[in-house]
Amino acid sequence: MFDVAVIGAGAAGMMAAAVAGQRGLRVVLIDHARRLAEKIRISGGGRCNFTNIGTTPANFISQNPDFCRSALSAYTPRDFLDLIRKHGISWHEKHRGQLFCDESSEDIIDMLRRECDAGKVSWRMPCSVSEILREADAFRLATDQGPIEARRLVLATGGMAIPQLGATDFALGIARQFGLKVVEPRPALVPLTFDPASWAPFSELSGVALEVCVRSKPEGSKATSGRARGAAPAVFLEDLLFTHRGLSGPAILQISSYWNPGETIHIDLAHAQDLERELLDAKPGSRQQLGTVLAGLWPKRLAEQLLATLDAAAPDLATRRLADVPDKMLRRLASRIHDWALMPSGTVGYKKAEVMRGGVDTRGLNQKTMEARSVPGLYFIGEAVDVTGWLGGYNFQWAWASGVACGRALAG
Ligand SMILES: Cc1cc2nc3c(=O)[nH]c(=O)nc-3n(C[C@H](O)[C@H](O)[C@H](O)COP(=O)(O)OP(=O)(O)OC[C@H]3O[C@@H](n4cnc5c(N)ncnc54)[C@H](O)[C@@H]3O)c2cc1C
Repeated sequence: MFDVAVIGAGAAGMMAAAVAGQRGLRVVLIDHARRLAEKIRISGGGRCNFTNIGTTPANFISQNPDFCRSALSAYTPRDFLDLIRKHGISWHEKHRGQLFCDESSEDIIDMLRRECDAGKVSWRMPCSVSEILREADAFRLATDQGPIEARRLVLATGGMAIPQLGATDFALGIARQFGLKVVEPRPALVPLTFDPASWAPFSELSGVALEVCVRSKPEGSKATSGRARGAAPAVFLEDLLFTHRGLSGPAILQISSYWNPGETIHIDLAHAQDLERELLDAKPGSRQQLGTVLAGLWPKRLAEQLLATLDAAAPDLATRRLADVPDKMLRRLASRIHDWALMPSGTVGYKKAEVMRGGVDTRGLNQKTMEARSVPGLYFIGEAVDVTGWLGGYNFQWAWASGVACGRALAG
């Protein structure tokens, strides 16, 4: 009989197991994978963007936006930095508060393994759990390594992104089994796709990248209900990348977490400029072709393609002299470039997503301990929970913080 069984030896699970073990509990950590913590290994291009120094609850998406506050404030990026300093891991800040390992994400995996060893955590790996039953004062797990009994059970099996690395919806199934609600899961931090026919003119721009301002709603609109309470529409200033099937790059990954089927996204392709004023000021007597003027702003291929597709009524726009283009048309052109509204047809799915959005409904969990309100002794942590971070180290910070909150509560 263990005090605690943790299923999922990823970021959150190892953290919770280590904290509980170091506080004297007998902990068993179970994972079905052959290799430990694959998601940490591949994260941040192999250097693990392990936190973001500017983390606040506003960097997370959830149907219950205040839920993450308590855990995030009880275990901050500074606390995680103390831990990696203790293990002698060197790191650097890339941009916007994103912290990466200097050497390799393996350093983080080794550190967590050592922390688990310090807590005398028992390992069952690879080990699959086929059934979980709750008995009077314990959880009984049927596994391919025989039965395991524990007084308390932590689900830390993450989200469904990258199923080819063993990601599953196991935690969601267990939540439902015990009567907890689940917020519909969807791929997030994921490239967006478009209807092939409408995208055809842009597919040849594959590889073109530029900084844009992307919004989940047109500028000036109010947040709709169902979004984070009181939150403004999401806005990100990041790079966008054209691909054969659609759009990618940090700007699109960020906005994808807010996008729902049937909605448009809004891209300002010239966020640093007031294009209407610049075009109207440059117009008098200008012999330059409009296409040449716009090619001064963006990669030429993009300028040509935008002019060819933005205004069907004026297919020759690119070759017209600026001085000959009516003011009204320049204004319309500028406003369409500052608010390029696009309706994605979908995403490239979990195979390429960085995270899953949605998950175990936090309204059924205690925000200080991560314990299910209706099932004493059952805990959910990490990405399996309906708390999804932005791109930039926030998802790991949530994994560490929720893992520590749970580990401390188990031992408390
Ligand atoms: C390509 C990529 C890059 C990323 N880069 C970053 C980054 O740089 N910074 C950042 O903050 N976030 C990043 N993320 C997101 C981050 O990896 C996750 O949010 C984080 O790992 C979630 O931690 P977790 O412990 O909840 O789940 P995980 O770390 O995914 O761990 C879950 C564990 O559960 C195990 N498991 C799953 N199902 C079962 C089952 N049925 N039975 C037993 N075990 C099971 C898995 O094998 C795994 O070991 C990235 C994600 C991807 C896919």
